[in-house]
Amino acid sequence: ATSSDKGGIEGAVNEAYNKYKDLKEGKNADYIPELAKVPSEQFAIVVIAPDGKVYSKGDADAMYSIQSISKVLTLARDIEDFGPKAIQDKIGVDPTGQKFNSAVFVEENKGKELNPLVNAGAIAATSMVKGNTYEEKWNTILQTHNDFAGRQLSVNDPVYKSEAATNQHNQALASLMNSFERMYFDPAKSVDIYTKQCAININTKDLAMIAATLANGGTNPVTKKKVVSPETVAHVLPVMATCGLYDDSGIWFYNVGLPAKSGVGGGIMAIVPGQYGIAAFSPRLDEAGNSVRAQKAITDIVNKLGLNPYLVK
Ligand code: GLU
Repeated sequence: ATSSDKGGIEGAVNEAYNKYKDLKEGKNADYIPELAKVPSEQFAIVVIAPDGKVYSKGDADAMYSIQSISKVLTLARDIEDFGPKAIQDKIGVDPTGQKFNSAVFVEENKGKELNPLVNAGAIAATSMVKGNTYEEKWNTILQTHNDFAGRQLSVNDPVYKSEAATNQHNQALASLMNSFERMYFDPAKSVDIYTKQCAININTKDLAMIAATLANGGTNPVTKKKVVSPETVAHVLPVMATCGLYDDSGIWFYNVGLPAKSGVGGGIMAIVPGQYGIAAFSPRLDEAGNSVRAQKAITDIVNKLGLNPYLVK
């Protein structure tokens, strides 16, 4: 390790990359047709330190859609703008124990007791976003993503169109939520904004910068822009810890001890509060919908560097 890499981060990143680069387990998401076309071999790992130093390996510049990870950023925006109590009351903050797009859960609980990281709760969170029109809400969301990443992002149009043409289930969720008065803007428009936010294009450096901004109490460590307050981050990370990896959120937290969020595009980010943003990307997913290589790579790096906050020696 060099003097600027006292923690041996570079070694840990390289080791994880080499260990999993030939792993072919899992398969691309295909319920959004465009996601099936993303090259499955792509693999990237990026760690960003508190001083903004970037450690990266693999296809760190390859672009892909953020998907569910956007739910975290929209949640952060809403907590910042409306306070933590509004999210707790209008959406909920408990794990559902059901599939991320369950309509049964919404029906049984009358649109309550959800969380902003499952689809019904996330679409409701998008519907809450500050702004009176589709455009105003969308601009608020895109600007928030830009601020977290520290650069101008844009929508992956083929992914957006592909999902917009096939998202009848999400439309149904929004209508069902609306029937229980748990949507806060026009349901069809809200689903469309949500679909667009999921199609925002990022690379793994962007993802690690988003994670690093959360690790740094809501201020981007490179641009120094305060995106959200430390109090907001303190409410976002627990939702990630309990609901971040779909049905395997418990297994993840049990093994890694860090808040994280995955997306069906193949990205995962994990946050080491006060320290690092860690991101990994590879399109092949396991049964729960989490990238196989990204989970393994991040787990190894956390263990190697001793970053599990519950491990006190
Ligand atoms: N846009 C995707 C959906 O709503 C996001 C899924 C995900 O990444 O979990 O189905």
